[in-house]
This record gives sequence, structure tokens and C-alpha cells, in this order.
Amino acid sequence: ATPMAVMVGTGLGASRGILFKNASALEDATKLNVVIFDKTGTLTMGEPRVVDIVAAEGRMPEQVLLLAAAVEKGSEHPLALAILDKAEGLKIPEARDFLNRDGRGAQAEVNGDTVFLGNRRLMDEESISLGGLADKAEELKGAGRTVVHVAHQGILVGLIAIADAPRPTAKAAIARLHDKGVEVAMLTGDNEGTARRVAEELGIDIVLADVLPGQKADKVKELQAQGKRVGMVGDGINDAPALTQADVGFAIGAGTDVAMESADVVLMRSDPYDVVGAVELSRATLRKMH
Ligand code: ADP
Ligand code: MG
Repeated sequence: ATPMAVMVGTGLGASRGILFKNASALEDATKLNVVIFDKTGTLTMGEPRVVDIVAAEGRMPEQVLLLAAAVEKGSEHPLALAILDKAEGLKIPEARDFLNRDGRGAQAEVNGDTVFLGNRRLMDEESISLGGLADKAEELKGAGRTVVHVAHQGILVGLIAIADAPRPTAKAAIARLHDKGVEVAMLTGDNEGTARRVAEELGIDIVLADVLPGQKADKVKELQAQGKRVGMVGDGINDAPALTQADVGFAIGAGTDVAMESADVVLMRSDPYDVVGAVELSRATLRKMH
């Protein structure tokens, strides 16, 4: 690799908001066989909003929202912000003993009893049956919604359906990576049903769903163990180990500092299409070296 070609390549990247941190990142980007995208905030806008509240029999949607909002006051998760936004202007009850349930949801005491809220895994762990809402939950997931289950006094009181729109260029970026012979995977802590629907919409080959924060790097390793050279694109603190593990880690510039420090390439414009730009630029640069 001639230092001159690398300088020109990285300079050109920088002018387009694609920051290669070193020469080996530029070289490794030419060899990628698969690119894994984190779902929330990377393929999607990361601006989730509540689109539906379904109450269990004998309950009111507003009661479901208030119980959920009481717990989410203690959380900084993007889903928490969506729920608090929906509860704006309402009188949210006091909550105590807030506890984050990593990769699952959260819990707190409200009106003298524990509220559990989060994904299906959390309900299963707490032995809370979905009862009459099981079919509804599946239906919402099938439509690509993230379903937040809300339970109080050991009983499911309702479901909150949350939508997060794909970034406008996500689908085109994936199609273009395919043209270049690169497979595309999606990695998410969200459930399989929701993830599959979003993957179908975007044309993604491999779905890695229900992944706990501590397991993201292992998923990268598994693909590497199949002989693949893996690119990983993410934005969050819990993406950092996976970004480090990947052959090339790409951080979305609007993400966390931790993600940006762990990455080999920073995409300043937070545009998934810039992954295509990075691969093209690296290939063009390397061609000029030979
Ligand atoms: P990701 O970063 O891939 O979205 P997380 O590990 O943050 O995944 O969360 C995984 C899942 O756990 C979410 O899809 C959601 O169902 C549930 N969850 C986590 N935190 C919360 C929260 N504060 N409120 C509601 N649901 C939550
Ligand atoms: Mg994320």
C-alpha cells in the first residue's frame, strides 16, 4: 500500500464525512464479505413513537400508559422517551425502586406493587402470562412494531406498540452492498418477529434478533468463525464491543462517543449509504496501488 494512495483515499473520504481512522481500516474495508447493521438508530431513525396502546380486558389504555410512564421516568432508553412523550401532560404516578432489566426492559414499584415492562423475555422470566393479548402481540410484531408489555400485580395490563421508521437510504444501501457481493445482516435486541418484518422490508439476508447487549460481539465472532470478514455498523454504547470485534467497525456519527472511539470508520452524516461509499472508496484506492 503506497502511503500516497492511502492519503488521497482517506482525504477523499473525509471530504464526504467518511472518516477512516487508519490505513488498515481502508484496506480491510475492501475485503468485507458481510456487513452487520445494528437496527435501532442505525437502520432506523432511532426516533421511536407510540402508535397503539392495547389494554387488557377491564383496563383502560390511559392506565396502561400511566403505569408504563411511571417506570420509564427512571430510564434513558429510546423506548422510554417515546412512552414519556406520549404521556406528556398526564399526571404520572410516583415510582420507587427503579431497576433496569438490561436488554429486556425495566421495573419499579408503583402504587405498592411492581410494574414490569419490556419484551416477551421479561414477561417469561417473571412468569407473567400474556393471556388474551398473546395474539394481539404477535400481530403487532408482524407489522414491524416493537411491543412493550406492561404488567402490574403479576398480571399483564396492556401492550404499547412502538414504531421507528427506517432511515430513507437504508434499503438502497443494502441493495447496493448486494450488487458488490456483500451480504447484509441486522443485529438487534428487539424480538425476532419485529426484526424479521423490518428485514423483509429492507431486503436483509441474515437476522440476528433477541441479542442481549453482552452478546453482540459474540455474533460478530460467529460470522468470523465461518470465514467471513465482517463489517459492523452501530451507534450505541452496547455496540462498542461488537465494533471492536469486527474486521471493520463503523460508527454512526450521531451516536455515542464510546461507539465512535471503538470504531475504525466514523460516518459523520449518520447515513447508512455511507457504508457503500466507504467500501467503494476503499476498493478504488486499493486498485490504484497495484
Ligand atoms: P437495542 O439497542 O438493539 O434496541 P436493547 O438491548 O436496548 O436493544 O433492548 C432490547 C429490548 O428490550 C427492546 O427491544 C425492548 O423490547 C426491551 N427494552 C429495553 N429497555 C426498555 C425500556 N426502558 N422500556 C421498554 N422496553 C425496553
Ligand atoms: Mg442500538
